Amino acid sequence: MSKTIIISNRLPLQISIEDNNLEVTPSVGGLATGLKSFHRDGDSIWIGWTGLTEEEIPESLAQDVKKRALEEACVSVNLTAEEIEGFYYGFSNRTIWPLFHYFMEYTEAELSFWEIYKKVNQKYANEVLKHYQEGDQIWVHDYQLLLVPNMIREKAPEAIIGFFNHIPFPSYEVFRTLPWREEVLEGVLGADLIGFHTYDYERHFLSSVSRILRLQVDFNEVTLPNRIVKVDSFPMGIDYEKFEQAALNHFKNTSEEQSDLQNRLDHHLKTTPEAKLILSIDRLDYTKGIANRIRAFEYFLDRNPEYVEKVRLVMLAVPSRSNVPQYQRLKREIDELVGRINGKFSTVNWTPIWYFYRSMPFENLIDLYTSCDVALLTPIRDGMNLVAKEFIATRTYHTGVLILSEMAGASHEMNEAILINPNNFEQISSALKQALEMPKEEQIQRNKMLQKRLKRYSVEKWANDFIKALKNTKDNRNDSQ
Ligand code: UDP
Repeated sequence: MSKTIIISNRLPLQISIEDNNLEVTPSVGGLATGLKSFHRDGDSIWIGWTGLTEEEIPESLAQDVKKRALEEACVSVNLTAEEIEGFYYGFSNRTIWPLFHYFMEYTEAELSFWEIYKKVNQKYANEVLKHYQEGDQIWVHDYQLLLVPNMIREKAPEAIIGFFNHIPFPSYEVFRTLPWREEVLEGVLGADLIGFHTYDYERHFLSSVSRILRLQVDFNEVTLPNRIVKVDSFPMGIDYEKFEQAALNHFKNTSEEQSDLQNRLDHHLKTTPEAKLILSIDRLDYTKGIANRIRAFEYFLDRNPEYVEKVRLVMLAVPSRSNVPQYQRLKREIDELVGRINGKFSTVNWTPIWYFYRSMPFENLIDLYTSCDVALLTPIRDGMNLVAKEFIATRTYHTGVLILSEMAGASHEMNEAILINPNNFEQISSALKQALEMPKEEQIQRNKMLQKRLKRYSVEKWANDFIKALKNTKDNRNDSQ
């Protein structure tokens, strides 16, 4: 029987070592949680990195790491600290990530990163080939593994290979600046089906293929000398029921059962009953527009002094890639901005920004999602933005307002949100006012429409649609033989 082989940089589980014992915890984040049910329920194996470098695994535990991963149908790829440095922190996060998010000034064209990226991609491809049997579907994920599809194809020409890119694909004018643009496109084109979150990313990719490689592109198909590659958009959804159910359960909790965070939030709501909470949640990443958001909040308070003591920004920034210099600088910038604005506006009873720099367990995320009145998500660029969808799924009373950047992939499916340009402070400020003053009936009407759509296009449907389309490419191939 055929199986599906999923390949991503990280496995859906994370292994760490405590007192010479292995600890296995589930990974967080969209991809891991999204594909988990697909992986659990179907016949599949998942190939990726455990989070431990080769140097961190004592020889006595090496077999154990493999075994613990296998118990979850996972196969670990061994990577050294040097490989992680060059492949992950280097080429993936200092070259591809900024370039694909239009941060050209942050993009480093470092040959040594590229060399190590190729080497590590080959390691992943080799691991896939060890487990591949004819008839299997192979599904490669994301920008860390752009070369893997063609590396598999070279050794297994008949393989059915899909690739999904979870971040934006930039316009040709930006992509063409990459020194290794041909190799990257050829790497991805090893797949039979290439998926993006939005039609725009798909179009950008196809225009790069046609202009850089001079290949024939008709609608959403690329014609190679010996096969056809399909390119399509598959907007990723969330596990809607999980978030909805968690919110429903949350409201059933008695005060003894609820978290410290919820107690703090309740205290705020009790002491200042007419004050509203504005929520923002993201990884601390320069693509998320966090600094602009804080400045726009300042602009809002300057313009609307009647909102002093009447509104509070609850901002969760999750530490991310903290050994990349731009992320360290950003952290300092945000710390300073929060300090300055809190210093400027605070009163004896009130601080305008509550800032958390850490990750939160799921229950606390639900506390935040359900207690806030407005979600303010202003990325400068974002492949999708799952937080926007999760916020809506937890609004079980259908109230609450989402303000979302039009630069987030999610905005294409969320027209009922207030969409803003993240660089336009005036617009963000008036969107905030509109959100805070929006009549309940209008909130309910907008959210109900969003909820209906998000419920239907769940992450499960996303994975099934992709695999179905991938299997179809095989059928088409058989037809044409
Ligand atoms: N998230 C989390 N812990 C936190 C904060 C956020 O697990 O403390 C999750 C959040 O629920 C969401 C994901 O991280 O599923 C972030 O995904 P998104 O697409 O918004 O942004 P990304 O970080 O992938 O760029």
